[in-house]
Amino acid sequence: MSNTYNIMMLPGDGIGPEIMAQVEKLITWINDNTDLTLKTEHGLIGGCSTDAHGVPLSDETLEECRASDMIMLGAVGGPKWDGVEYNKRPEAGLLRLRKELDLFANLRPALVFDALIDASTLKPEIVRGLDILIVRELTGGVYFGEPRGIEDLGNGQRRGYNTQTYTTNEIERLARVGFDLARKRGNKVTSCEKANVMESGKLWREDVTALHTAEASDVTLEHMYADNCAMQLLRNPSQFDVIITDNLFGDILSDEAAMLTGSLGMLPSASLGADGIPGVYEPVHGSAPDIAGQGKANPLATLLSFAMGLRYSLNQGDLATAIEQAAQNVLNNGTRTADIIAEGCTQVSTDEMGDALIDDLANNSAIKNAA
Ligand code: NAD
Repeated sequence: MSNTYNIMMLPGDGIGPEIMAQVEKLITWINDNTDLTLKTEHGLIGGCSTDAHGVPLSDETLEECRASDMIMLGAVGGPKWDGVEYNKRPEAGLLRLRKELDLFANLRPALVFDALIDASTLKPEIVRGLDILIVRELTGGVYFGEPRGIEDLGNGQRRGYNTQTYTTNEIERLARVGFDLARKRGNKVTSCEKANVMESGKLWREDVTALHTAEASDVTLEHMYADNCAMQLLRNPSQFDVIITDNLFGDILSDEAAMLTGSLGMLPSASLGADGIPGVYEPVHGSAPDIAGQGKANPLATLLSFAMGLRYSLNQGDLATAIEQAAQNVLNNGTRTADIIAEGCTQVSTDEMGDALIDDLANNSAIKNAA
């Protein structure tokens, strides 16, 4: 089996290049110390691409992305491009990438590191050991459904409307991802919708149940109304393993779950499509223009996103786990960037945090010999 993979690197804007430089260092370390060969190509996305090519994602870069095994993305956006027309905005590059690759499943883990337990606004006993994975449908639902619009009712009133719509195929492919992931974790899926008041939610529940019976009866399935899920995430979050949900509820529930962990600089994400399509791996945070170029950015969300890519796109689960463990060790040792600094800890730069993680990994001889 080939151990050579192609990774498309899209650093983007703001802190994007600084945090992605840490992934470059990690890739160099992996190439030097394991049997894997990770080749990289580089492209522009976001405001820097609009500046260079007039569009936030060029056709050429998109084709290079398509030809890769996985795509690593930093972040896009910044005040410089706030006034540009909609299809030249940095975010339009991201949306185009997701749409063209039909990345329908967005994975957002909410993992509480013991060393950062005080960063959560919830009590330590509620969030200790928390490990939830939210799988949000990303390309359907009310954000894309037709008809949509704002109409003039002619009597000084207007009406705004959107359509929540899901097909069986859209529901099944998302649920299948959820069941597959649950088998590699706690083997439990909680499916969230509003079947009590929405037909699309009723269909969602029926289709998830049917798929479970047909293909995934080995996984525990429970259904929960989305509003109850929002409440349960604060009341007793450790009851959850994998949560599958639609685009709108997933948008809200994943942000809520993220805040259980307390720190934006620590949150990775993945967007996956059909088999054979490269996944996109990126931190949840944005381009942080307020700290760009100052060496203050926390690179861990990006490095943890890269670990997700190793696991889900390159099938290198052991190496991914070793990187996650290295992040854990570095935090336990009190090494912190400014956003997660605490009393008694040592504050380091973006670059130093990247080095600390690689140093820890280098001490993990099991990976060096086995990968
Ligand atoms: P942001 O996530 O960039 O920043 C919010 C706050 O968190 C800032 O104070 C920032 O300094 C801090 N922060 C973010 N990431 C950090 C890190 N790794 N280390 C330390 N601190 C970090 O959100 P924003 O300020 O609302 O948006 C800034 C720009 O990013 C906007 O142009 C927005 O459109 C864009 N954005 C892009 C993405 C993306 O690329 N996926 C996501 C969200 C926002």
